[in-house]
Formats: sequence, structure tokens, C-alpha cells
Amino acid sequence: MTRLRQGYGGQARLVLAGGRIIDPASGRDEVGDLVIEGGRIARIGAAGKLGEADRTIDCRGRIVSPGFIDLHVHLREPPISGGDRAGLAETIATGTAAAVAGGFTTICAMPNTDPPMDSAEAVAYYLRRGREAGLARVLPVGAMTRGRAGREPADLAAMKAAGAVAFSDDGSDVADAKLFEAVLHRAAAIGAVAICHCEDARLAAGGIVNDGPMTLALGLPGIPSEAETAAVERACRASTVAGCRVHIAHVSTAGAVESLRRAKSAGAPVTAEATPHHLALTHEALRGRESVFKVSPPLRSASDVAAVVEAVRDGTIDCLATDHAPHTAAAKAKGLVAAPPGVIGLESALAVYVRALVEPGVLDWPDLIACLTVHPARILGLTAGTLAMGAAADVTVIDPDEPWVIDPAHFASRARNCPFAGWKVKGRVKQTLVGGRVVYEDLA
Ligand SMILES: [Zn+2]
Repeated sequence: MTRLRQGYGGQARLVLAGGRIIDPASGRDEVGDLVIEGGRIARIGAAGKLGEADRTIDCRGRIVSPGFIDLHVHLREPPISGGDRAGLAETIATGTAAAVAGGFTTICAMPNTDPPMDSAEAVAYYLRRGREAGLARVLPVGAMTRGRAGREPADLAAMKAAGAVAFSDDGSDVADAKLFEAVLHRAAAIGAVAICHCEDARLAAGGIVNDGPMTLALGLPGIPSEAETAAVERACRASTVAGCRVHIAHVSTAGAVESLRRAKSAGAPVTAEATPHHLALTHEALRGRESVFKVSPPLRSASDVAAVVEAVRDGTIDCLATDHAPHTAAAKAKGLVAAPPGVIGLESALAVYVRALVEPGVLDWPDLIACLTVHPARILGLTAGTLAMGAAADVTVIDPDEPWVIDPAHFASRARNCPFAGWKVKGRVKQTLVGGRVVYEDLA
């Protein structure tokens, strides 16, 4: 059983008592009490020594982490007022409820909404609706091109002034190389980051599954890994030419990892992310032809997955991001060919990262938490992602050992397209605090 509990914060004095406090931003990893006053981190000290509180949360045996940051979330709600929200796969309210249930206190909302988020008004609308929902902080990502149509640049400066934290045409690449470079030049001029969905549309055209054994087994057209590798090569080159910081979304292939490694060692201003599904699943998951495993980029081979995992371990991939992509049951029921790509990820992410990265010894807990907090914060220059004194008290309390079974029926997300249903996992979010307010609590 889970439920939301609100009403803490403001001037309340809250003590998270006796937990393992891990804050990679400051190198802290110690057992103690964390005190929150007026919505901010006030003190960290020896357990039991920090005095009375309005509320004490027993965190013994638990990890006290900065709230997680997800640079890649689709909230589906259109960035305009009015309209019918009943048929949507997700809304800002349900998506942020899913975020805090998964331990995420800050999420970046992607602009491939209908209509796309490509104006200052749309960005301002998303910010306001996010604040009204009052759960995770919502940071809008503006479209790179007008209407996300890939024909002319969008007004990046106006969107940045309205609060956009980055720019992306996620869902597709900007195919026109000249336009892509022009957009990167504009982003560089205003000090903005471009988040790139790297997929060469010509090479990927018509594909449904990863090129290889699954194209034969399922009789479906393939998407070659070169479609991603070529696009990552182009994005890295353009980042250097334009002097623009480029963040590569959802890296899925060994070739892309190699391109990134080369570009980074040559000094290109690039960063990258990996998703839970590209770390924990291979294209073999598609054998049963279930559309829940259809994602973009597609699930890849075991050797691609191993390369992506190794890139997370050695830091070639800087951070983890869910690419939470809700779809309605009706849309996903159209079958493997017609169903839209995408899986939800916010509420299963931590447990899947534990399975794919912590349990095999790829990352320890401080490394995993760094990939979920300070690393994504640095990529976008956010002040979040730390338990430093005086910082906003965005905190996630984790039971690292609690076993549970992933059951999308219990999710706060409106969508159910979770590829991990039925998995027996470990690692559960117990409390999530935003600005010192307990916005999620697992009362199981
Ligand atoms: Zn994408």
C-alpha cells in the first residue's frame, strides 16, 4: 500500500534519523542524522545528537540520498490551456506523482507533445502546471525546431528566457545537417545544451526492431546500429564545430559508445545518458511479439548492452535517465508494427538500476546515486542534486534491500506500458521530499 502524505515543510523541523547519508556532490558517505528546517538542509551530524523535531523519520538501515534528477521524461500533456485531458496517456499531475514515487524530485519534460513545446508561452505553461501539481519539479525542454518539424529553428532565446533548461527534438533527429548545425550555433550563443535523439532517419527508415536475429525471427524490418552510430558521430562533430554542449539521449549501441569515447577524449563538449531498458533488456525480449518491448532506439544485442553497461561504469556515459514514455493501452494494443515505441520507467527505475548495475558490481551505491543526482545536475547546470547545507531539501530515502515485485497496476502513472512487470527486485523508495515536504511515502 502506498499513499501520498503532504503538509510538512514550511518552518517544520524534520529529522531523517540514523540513515546512511550519501551525497556524491560533497563526497559524503556516513551514518547520521539529517536535519531539515524551513524546507532546506540545515545540519548533518552524529545520530541522536541533533535535538527535537516536529517529525522524525527512522532511516536506520536506509540510504538518504539527494532527490533523483531525470533529464528525460515525457509527460504527454499539451502545453496549452484547455483541451480534453481524459484520453491522454499521462498528465503533468500523474507524471509527477509517478516521479516522486520513483524517488525523482526533478524531471525534464520533453517537448514532443501535441502541439509541440516550441514557444515561450508553452514553456511558461508547463512550468506553471508543474508548480500547481506540487510534486516533482518540472523543468521544460524546448523544441529545437519550430513545430518539431525539422524545417527552421525554434526561438531558443525566448524559450530560455521563459525557463527552458535545454533544447531537443527528441523522438526524432534533426535530419537536415545544415539546420542541425545552425540550431547548435544558436544554442551555443545562449549557453544552452542540445539534447540529441541520435538516429539517422534514412538508415533507420521503416525499421521496427534491431537489425539482426530478431529481423529474421519476427520477419520484421530492422533498424541497424549504424543509424545510431552515424548520428552520434555527426552530433559529436557538430558540438565541436558549433562549440555547443550536446547531450546524447538513450545510448543503445556499442558503436555509439565507441564514438562517444573518441569524441570525449578529443575534447568534444558531449555528455550522454543510458536508460533502464537499454541496460537491462536485449532484443531477445521481443520474441513474444509484445509491443511493450518496442522502444526507440530499439532494444539491442547482448554485446551492445554489455558495451552500454561498461560505458556507465567507466563514465563514458555520464548519467542515467528513464525516457519515461507513457502510452495508452489502446495504442500499445495495435501490435508490434503499428504500436508507438516507448516504455514507462519512473517507478521501476531504481530497482532496475540495482539489478543491472549494483548487484553485478558495476557501480556501488555512491556511484549509482551520482549518476542519478550530481551528474545530471552538472550536465544542465542545475543547483539540485546535493545535500549541501542550505540547499533545498529534495531528498530520497531508499531501502536498498527491500524485496518487491514490480506491478504496474500499483503505479501512480496513468500508463501501464512497463516492460519489467513481474520482476522480483530489490531497492525501494520509502520517502521522497521536495523542498522539505514529504510528497511521497511508502507505508507498506
Ligand atoms: Zn528519444
